[in-house]
Amino acid sequence: MFSRFKSVALATTALAFVSGAAMAQEAADSATTPETEEMSDLRAFHESLLVLDSHLDTPALLVQPGFDITQRYSTDEDYSQVDLPRMKEGGLDGGFWVIYSPQGPLTTKAYQTIRDTALLRALSIHEMVAGHPDEFELALNSEDAERIHEDGKRIVYISIENSYPLGEDISMLDTFYKLGVRMVGPVHFRNNQFADSATDIAGPQWDGLSPLGEELVKRANELGMIVDASHAHDMVFDDLMELSKTPIILSHSGSKAIYDHPRNIDDERLKQLAESGGLIQVNSYGGYVRELANNPERSEALRALYAEMDSGGPKTAEAYQAMLAKRREVDEKYPPATATFEEFLEHLLHILEIAGPEHVGLGADWDGGGGVAGMEDVSDLPLITYRLLDEGYTEEDLANIWGLNLVRLLKAAEDYAASLKEAPPVEETETE
Ligand SMILES: [Zn+2]
Repeated sequence: MFSRFKSVALATTALAFVSGAAMAQEAADSATTPETEEMSDLRAFHESLLVLDSHLDTPALLVQPGFDITQRYSTDEDYSQVDLPRMKEGGLDGGFWVIYSPQGPLTTKAYQTIRDTALLRALSIHEMVAGHPDEFELALNSEDAERIHEDGKRIVYISIENSYPLGEDISMLDTFYKLGVRMVGPVHFRNNQFADSATDIAGPQWDGLSPLGEELVKRANELGMIVDASHAHDMVFDDLMELSKTPIILSHSGSKAIYDHPRNIDDERLKQLAESGGLIQVNSYGGYVRELANNPERSEALRALYAEMDSGGPKTAEAYQAMLAKRREVDEKYPPATATFEEFLEHLLHILEIAGPEHVGLGADWDGGGGVAGMEDVSDLPLITYRLLDEGYTEEDLANIWGLNLVRLLKAAEDYAASLKEAPPVEETETE
């Protein structure tokens, strides 16, 4: 099966990687409109796969005024990378749609505000599904993915990035579970009530998980949720490896061996993760792919732009469009530094080599800062399939990488939760 793709895959990738972004774009265009029979076969193979991404930040756009997931947007004009037309073009069947919360103060008042924002974010995902029942379906169990894929609809699992909105009340995790959440990451850019972040400038505060964080992991296991260590400090990873009853995920992470950044994982931990049955989903966020040149003028211009916006963002479609126009002006004046598809592939290929194709997938941080020159949005995903076939990965490997590994990880989480219901643990009786 593999050999029939070999020559075309080689030709495609040669085209894409000889001379940078323009050529890559050409290859991407030809990839989405195959001209030869062999290209059609490649494309058909990619489309036949269950293709999932474990970290879609698109719900951040769902709450923007005027945004319509069924319309085709563009990366250049709208800073959008995922919509229904481009999901279809790129063969992306769905994935985990993220309820993201920025880290704020650890106060009762702030907990209440962010909890409500997170609940509304969850509702926006439900509204997307309810508004387009022929196109999207909420996925609640591991077996839902294949079924929804066969029905030709997009798969909507839900995850939490940063458990900050739970406050100090672990029972809120049950509420989010009932809202469909099946994956939970304790922490984001800064330390919080649950865990240390990989990127808090103050350094670790808990030396891993806090006592509340340990409770969070226990409850996530009991509910059958996947626990996500992306953004967490390495010591949190170590705690999770010890504490979690089911294998964990890094839903959008890269390799420290390729680029030594606190958000990436070293080879030793990567091996531990694979040995435990866990999964790493490779990120395409430029700042974690390689060191990007700092541009203080650009940072200042963006800071000024966001400072003049209403708190909570634009309130009308017009205000949102005006904000996008101003952002395009900033980009024109101070072009952003980016990583390339080839640099992203270095991470993917290294991680595949260390962890093996049964423990690797894709979590490219779409609509959350991901995307590289040559793979700007989800319509470019077939390029990954072509390149991995070219590198000698089999069709079975591709099926695992694109979706089956993730489904199996969720199944393991579900099976553990189910086992608790079958055989409740014997209560320890207090002795005097
Ligand atoms: Zn993230």
